[in-house]
Amino acid sequence: MGELRGRFAPSPSGRMHLGNLFSALLAWLSVRSAGGTMVLRMEDLDPDRCRKEYAVQLAEDLRWLGLDWDEGYEKGGPHGPYSQSERTGLYADAFRKLDGMGLIYPCFCTRAERLAASAPHRSDGQTVYGGKCRYLPDEERSRLGKLRRPAWRLTVPDQDIGFTDKLQGACQENLLRDCGDFIVRRSDGVYAYQLAVVYDDGAMKINQVVRGRDLLDSTPRQLYLYELLGLTPPEFCHVPLLLAPDGRRLSKREQDLDMGALRQRFTPEQLTGLLAFWAGQLDRPEPVSPAELAMDFHWAKVPTEDITVNLG
Ligand code: GLU
Repeated sequence: MGELRGRFAPSPSGRMHLGNLFSALLAWLSVRSAGGTMVLRMEDLDPDRCRKEYAVQLAEDLRWLGLDWDEGYEKGGPHGPYSQSERTGLYADAFRKLDGMGLIYPCFCTRAERLAASAPHRSDGQTVYGGKCRYLPDEERSRLGKLRRPAWRLTVPDQDIGFTDKLQGACQENLLRDCGDFIVRRSDGVYAYQLAVVYDDGAMKINQVVRGRDLLDSTPRQLYLYELLGLTPPEFCHVPLLLAPDGRRLSKREQDLDMGALRQRFTPEQLTGLLAFWAGQLDRPEPVSPAELAMDFHWAKVPTEDITVNLG
């Protein structure tokens, strides 16, 4: 594979929580144990949710734990800029390329229409788009275009896309049946995560993506985009999610487990020890630094199932 290039690509839409940190630590350990290059990219595409202060805090929280990066946010490097909000022109080029292939169409469906026309529901709570706007006659498109700003969808083929995840094993999805045509640009003009993440990982020559298992379902869509854009896909490692004792996935709303609260309760070494224990790298949670862990990191020890954490 050549030199390993991994990344952490957080969305600065709030303070990081334990689950984000768990993925970040694993991505970092994978890169550092292989002597590779770590990239930090801010996925701040959504102006309604992301804020500069969160990005600054996020970088500070990573450093506090002992995670560093060689290229990216605040550091620069050969593939910048490293904040997605500064890369809109590049996504526009990718979008035009797909449009030039005749694969993009405007979708005028409202949220309510989308829900009504979309079934069945996928396991991740998203809906399968039924393709209502795919075949709209031109007159109807121009009539609706005067009433609403459309979102833009990418036409998907009736094709199975398979890949082998380093942790989750063989995965497969039929894009048309399991997902449907998906949005690559929202009606407010913001490019969608799927397009931006593929473009960026491709352009930044990332060859290993470590991230939460909640994004496993996005991977077939992303592989389709890699192919269309002529980019080389990375190896994927979808790590387990951390769950609260009641079975809910930790989220940024889970204030009690955000970095602010965690930093008051634990030293960086104590917190790293807990994360490393959950990641199967230690027999019991004992204080350790990320750098020490990197000397003896093994993917084979990382569990594949979600992990219930109880911090009392
Ligand atoms: N920005 C995404 C998030 O914070 C992660 C994207 C990725 O790792 O592919 O959920």
